[in-house]
Amino acid sequence: MKSLPPVFRSCLVPRCGAAFDWSSPWPAGWRGIAGPGARALYACPEHSAAWDLHRPATRRYPDEGGVAAMCACGWTTDTVPTLGMLETAFLEHLVPELTTPVVAAHALG
Ligand SMILES: [Zn+2]
Ligand SMILES: [Zn+2]
Repeated sequence: MKSLPPVFRSCLVPRCGAAFDWSSPWPAGWRGIAGPGARALYACPEHSAAWDLHRPATRRYPDEGGVAAMCACGWTTDTVPTLGMLETAFLEHLVPELTTPVVAAHALG
């Protein structure tokens, strides 16, 4: 039986550099979502602490002829024509959120 070649997927945080082998069993601590474009987005263990608060998803608005993104935290985008345009928006939302140290909820008053 031929083993699969490694398929490396990297953390969505650009300067992180962490990656995992997607052809192997899912590594502990990594989280993933289907991205708006062709690829999925993954966060490494170091950057997945705030993951449960942020679940970007896309919604189609046929009447307006476009798609928009929204997140579990309340973040939304304007309606844009194509899903590919939302990938940048996903990353612009997620990267700062996932790289900010998680502050305990009670400390926010
Ligand atoms: Zn990372
Ligand atoms: Zn969010």
